[in-house]
Amino acid sequence: MRRKLMDILVCPMCRGELRLKVGVERDGEIVEGSLTCKACDEIYPIEDTIPNMLPPSLRD
Ligand SMILES: [Zn+2]
Repeated sequence: MRRKLMDILVCPMCRGELRLKVGVERDGEIVEGSLTCKACDEIYPIEDTIPNMLPPSLRD
């Protein structure tokens, strides 16, 4: 995902603001990392450039 995406992404659970933690970044794109909600502390992983914004209860 592009960093720019942070401008529009919010926590799907509470619509809170997200904090970006970058693991691997390549060509201005975040490949691996995580998004943590500042409000409810839920963590959404970023894998292969795709942020997984599903609520934890709906993940595999
Ligand atoms: Zn939240």
